[in-house]
Amino acid sequence: MAIIEISKLKKSFGSLDVLKQITFDVNKNDVVAVIGPSGSGKSTMLRSLVHLETIEGGSISVDGDYLVKDGVYPKQQDIKQITSKMGMVFQHFNLFPHLTVKENLEVAPRLLKRESLAVISKRSDELLEKIGLANFSNTHPAKLSGGQKQRVAIARALMLNPEILLFDEPTSALDPELTGEVLQVMKDLAEEHMTMIVVTHEMGFAKEVANRVVFMDNGEIVESGSPTEFFENPQFDRTKAFLRRNL
Ligand code: ADP
Ligand code: MG
Repeated sequence: MAIIEISKLKKSFGSLDVLKQITFDVNKNDVVAVIGPSGSGKSTMLRSLVHLETIEGGSISVDGDYLVKDGVYPKQQDIKQITSKMGMVFQHFNLFPHLTVKENLEVAPRLLKRESLAVISKRSDELLEKIGLANFSNTHPAKLSGGQKQRVAIARALMLNPEILLFDEPTSALDPELTGEVLQVMKDLAEEHMTMIVVTHEMGFAKEVANRVVFMDNGEIVESGSPTEFFENPQFDRTKAFLRRNL
């Protein structure tokens, strides 16, 4: 069953058409790897899902509710309610430098005031344990490695119990030796059946962990399929050329 339905998404920046009628569905428990050259619209597509970009045409529905329908958005409160089902992890971590690791995890749920501080604190402790950083709860981000920072960012996204996690090149800012620890956390989440959309250059991750690969080029989805279909039998010249350059 589709948890996210994206239909004919259209977005331009000035005269540049960045998303040209993007259409695809994400099923519950899917791990979708989105790949494609720089500038192809991957980030814009992902950011549209959490309304960090406003689209001009097309529809996005999450769990059957429209975040935007034929380019028209509902009222702010409905937008918030729908986007709150998704957590986002960015390339550059975006941690708050003046807060400790534990405070970074707790800031959003504390602001929301839906749960007691004790419940929030318990969950942040559990998540820090899960990502192997329990001993760093009172540390500030500046003292962490890039891999540790990104693991904290993932834990922070999980604090709001999202149904879907979105990752925008989560390992692209890391030294190669630090990508493994972040990919492992993502792999663990996939094994726990978290629904994830992952924009990535890590072809190994796309092959091993994703159950679907979507290839974007120039604002379009050129081709998508299972990792086996996609990597072993790409159909389009643009895909073949991209794979030749990146495998
Ligand atoms: P990708 O993530 O695949 O590298 P992006 O979605 O970031 O691609 O960008 C797609 C295109 O849109 C690029 O040409 C980029 O320069 C342009 N773009 C992205 N954001 C903006 C913006 N805020 N203003 C103008 N152009 C933008
Ligand atoms: Mg990008």
